[in-house]
Amino acid sequence: MNDRIGTTRDGIVIRGARILGGEPADILIRDGLLVEIGQGLSAGESDETVEAEGLIALPGLVDLHTHLREPGREDAETVTTGTRAAALGGYTAVHAMANTDPVADTAGVVEQVWRLGQEAGYCDVQPVGAVTVGLGGEHLAELGAMADSAARVRVFSDDGRCVSDAVLMRRALEYVKAFDGVVAQHAQEPRLTEGAQMNEGAVSGRLGLTGWPAVAEEAIISRDCLLAAHVGSRLHICHVSTAGSVELIRWAKSKGWDVTAEVTPHHLLLTDDLVEDSPVGSYNPIYKVNPPLRTRADVEALRAALADGTIDCVATDHAPHPVEDKEAEWAAAAMGMIGLETALAVVQEAMVETGLLDWAGVAERMSCAPARIGRLRGHGQPIEVGAPANLTLYDPAVRAAVDPAGYASKSRNTPYQGLTLPGRVVATFLRGRPTVLDGKLT
Ligand SMILES: [Zn+2]
Repeated sequence: MNDRIGTTRDGIVIRGARILGGEPADILIRDGLLVEIGQGLSAGESDETVEAEGLIALPGLVDLHTHLREPGREDAETVTTGTRAAALGGYTAVHAMANTDPVADTAGVVEQVWRLGQEAGYCDVQPVGAVTVGLGGEHLAELGAMADSAARVRVFSDDGRCVSDAVLMRRALEYVKAFDGVVAQHAQEPRLTEGAQMNEGAVSGRLGLTGWPAVAEEAIISRDCLLAAHVGSRLHICHVSTAGSVELIRWAKSKGWDVTAEVTPHHLLLTDDLVEDSPVGSYNPIYKVNPPLRTRADVEALRAALADGTIDCVATDHAPHPVEDKEAEWAAAAMGMIGLETALAVVQEAMVETGLLDWAGVAERMSCAPARIGRLRGHGQPIEVGAPANLTLYDPAVRAAVDPAGYASKSRNTPYQGLTLPGRVVATFLRGRPTVLDGKLT
């Protein structure tokens, strides 16, 4: 790490950044805080200057849904490589999913992951705790002990698996109320998706692949919204992928129920047609993901829902896999895509270039809302004097072909290879310390 600048004594002056896409302004960072914002700020002699003409300043991005794979699958990703990827993507905090080996279902494991994040120092790692012991779906994990631990867990999820037992889900929702926690559900009715390979529809019919029907997601979302309302608890829906799910969440919110939802960048851009015909051929498992890529109509509904606030935030579901797990025949290949280093570009392409969101809207959905849902302190705050200096500087004007060769992630399973995407993260600041400058890790 670069300890030359951004130390407690010296400040950093960011010149001419467009805060949330507004008029250019200077930002003075000192002691990890934003201490002055205005035109023509005078820098001290020992202050560093970062020229930011034409760049957008956003609050440091926050991911509610990252798979860092450590402990257990360090061949796919580690806390260090995953948080380096996060910093390059403009993130200052990520929630690390619990489906590691061992599973993050005790205070000991979540504290281990939290400490690994602190030691790496590229972005804050907030562990997610498992809902059930070993993700087994049978016994509640030690939710209270994880909440009380040094890792201060507030988000609980068996992600990768659905908490399909309605009684267990009810108990989890009741339990987390004590510490203002939230249960994040991977909504997948297991019996309806046995052997499922891709979205159930016209394309799966033509290709002869077992379908993952929309109703398998929507049935669980309906049930869990009703359960959350019944017990008066907070529910978060992971990676919403269908138009029907959007309608259900809109209905739950209209009732005033405390339900939030996320959508992934890939579900905002890609469709199931790619399994049949794509720049990288047909049946390419790079497009195999859970929940699966859906139809163009679903993509349009998800974009509209993110724009109108029905879906609260973007979460990457960054799911690294080593080459040998992905480059198999379709049925044998692992599900999942990496996404930390392309999330902002994909959101620009899907939401900003289409006129659905402005940069303030992007900041809300990629930083403020996820921090709020995760009850994460010090992140997702407005760019104003006194706030922690967690910032991302982004150049929206460039367009380039996606090339994963230089990615910091240990894995290469990006579905965007061969596409041209806009934007580039130029700098990321974590509590005033640059983790990325000139698009490179410091
Ligand atoms: Zn999931």
